[in-house]
Amino acid sequence: MSHPTSTELHTDPSQFPGVDVYVVAGNPISHSKSPAIHQRFAQQSNQVMHYGHLQPALDEFKAAAQSFFAAGGKGMNVTVPFKLDAQALADVLTPRAQLAGAVNTLRIEGGKIFGDNTDGAGMVRDLLAQGIQIKGARILLLGAGGASRGVLGPLLEQSPKELIIANRSNAKADELVQLFSGLATSLNVVLRAVTLSELEDSSKTNAAVDLVINATAAGLSNESPINDAAASNLFTPQSFAYDMVYGKVTAFMQQALHRGARVSDGLGMLVEQAADAFLIWRGAKLADAIDSRAVLAELRTS
Ligand code: NDP
Repeated sequence: MSHPTSTELHTDPSQFPGVDVYVVAGNPISHSKSPAIHQRFAQQSNQVMHYGHLQPALDEFKAAAQSFFAAGGKGMNVTVPFKLDAQALADVLTPRAQLAGAVNTLRIEGGKIFGDNTDGAGMVRDLLAQGIQIKGARILLLGAGGASRGVLGPLLEQSPKELIIANRSNAKADELVQLFSGLATSLNVVLRAVTLSELEDSSKTNAAVDLVINATAAGLSNESPINDAAASNLFTPQSFAYDMVYGKVTAFMQQALHRGARVSDGLGMLVEQAADAFLIWRGAKLADAIDSRAVLAELRTS
């Protein structure tokens, strides 16, 4: 019996003669909003292109991506669980993709596959668009997986005063601190790790932080990475709580709302990282032609 392979769900570029073809690859992928987002960017900037989705089997990313590009595909967004495979596939990495240790955007040029990571820049732009001051802020980043790693560089480059990382597995938070300590020092940012239980102790975090970013996957299973004692310690009406998960008010966002803090989900990050990918593929000259905040507003009402 056949299983759902990349071929069955393949967006085959040869089926679209004369049209540049892009895809988002992930597993699962049918829920993805990326095709709708890129279609709107293409309409806004009068680009003729097709953007589909591709669901390789878990061990077939490399073969699926290679066959997509061999058939004429121009670019690929990559999501869970293939961002590391995409990094391994790329012939050339941008410095930020190298630092992030993961790739979410691939493009082909002169037979070479280039890998980039637009997640961090996308999140920073979404925060700034929401009026959040990052420069000089005290930030707590929850999680130490691929998403945290991807946003750390762009966050540090905004010169916060302090960036604290906490993760369920402490060792992974310590690893990230080590990895980014050189960049943090050069930018004069205090970068350190604490355990999740230390968040309940105000002497460990020096109490409230300005911005708490939930980069864990806990929201997907209706959990928060922090308990209520930590939430009471961290959130004030002056704080801002940002959850990378989107499409619902997560348990983490509820903890913040109950303590008067402002909250946001990660839909804006999704749209902004897509905008950067679109410009990488179609040209930076289109930056003024696309309106990511209008696309976000449309998604919120659809
Ligand atoms: P990873 O699998 O690489 O990492 C998952 C992280 O979540 C780890 O730090 C893990 O901790 C932690 N975690 C998972 N479940 C729980 C839990 N129940 N309680 C506490 N911590 C938990 O995933 P990513 O880093 O790639 O993605 C994280 C989230 O960010 C996902 O939900 C993803 O959808 C979202 N995301 C959103 C984007 C957007 O555009 N809005 C872009 C990228 C990601 P541990 O190390 O201890 O296992």
